Amino acid sequence: MKNYDVLILGGGGAGLTAALYTSRAKLSTLLLEKLIPGGQIALTDIVENYPGFPEGITGGEISKRMEEQAKRYGTEMVYQEARSLKKQEKGFEVQTASGNYAAKAVILAAGASFRTLGVPREKELTGRGVSYCATCDGAFFKNKQIAVIGGGDSAMQEGIFLTRFAAQVTVIHRRDKLRASPILQERAKKDPKIHFIWDTVVEKIEGEKKVENILLKNIKNNKVQDFKTDGVFIFVGHDPNTGFLKDFVRLDDKGYVVTDSFLRTSVPGVFAAGEIRAGAVKQLVSACGEGCEAALAAQSYLENL
Ligand code: NAP
Repeated sequence: MKNYDVLILGGGGAGLTAALYTSRAKLSTLLLEKLIPGGQIALTDIVENYPGFPEGITGGEISKRMEEQAKRYGTEMVYQEARSLKKQEKGFEVQTASGNYAAKAVILAAGASFRTLGVPREKELTGRGVSYCATCDGAFFKNKQIAVIGGGDSAMQEGIFLTRFAAQVTVIHRRDKLRASPILQERAKKDPKIHFIWDTVVEKIEGEKKVENILLKNIKNNKVQDFKTDGVFIFVGHDPNTGFLKDFVRLDDKGYVVTDSFLRTSVPGVFAAGEIRAGAVKQLVSACGEGCEAALAAQSYLENL
């Protein structure tokens, strides 16, 4: 089994920045990523709030550049999902489908995954009109009707992106106030293709082979109505990817990894950075900042071993 100084679980902004720092510190570094480098950012159309890119940069491009930068200094990458993490006599061992890897220190940066609504037919119609990724699936909805569920930054940003393709985008939100940042709210509200339905939740998604209709319920007056649509894009937040960490590190009541202000978890030698961490602000720039902090903390831990 190959042994590294640092094992980084997750290749989003936090993990790739941590890898850049540990590799530049000449620590042998392995990064495990289950999907594509960049994590959630790789699935985002455009990043407009990462300093240094006044015109914005596509999520794909910045992800690719971060990956190249970490690899340039020696980071090894393996595209596998971590199945479990165990403490060994000296250090830690992670298990994946293609084998096990060992390291003296670990940085948890596996982020979070989109949340589902959990309504009838959502699962069956995923990929048949139900989607959680506008950049992946938007182009299938040219001149079609799209419902966007949620009122946060993701719903606004992705809803605006979907107007490139759709005839109309209807944002359906469970309250009468959006959670999204003012700049995205303003942009969405000004867009002639975007309409809003307030105080409303999805009860059921309907359609035989593809989405045809959603059943909506106004939570103030309990009125139920049909809403004909071709697509349902769901952006109702995320849940942390910490299933494999239960009973290993301390998690909060929502499943996020608890750390101290040096990003140390409850297990000495294990650090956490980015959206997986309780209290993280969930922005690319802060994920990268935390990746750097966790790398420096891991470096100091290894120096004192
Ligand atoms: P979020 O901020 O947690 O918002 C989720 C939205 O979905 C909320 O409006 C919430 O309603 C709604 N919701 C949650 N559960 C629901 C349910 N079961 N049924 C219906 N609606 C439901 O998630 P996000 O928009 O994915 O953003 C996650 C984080 O990433 C945030 O910190 C955000 O700022 C950040 N982000 C930033 C950018 C950017 O800076 N451009 C872009 C994307 C994401 P309530 O409002 O009633 O709770």
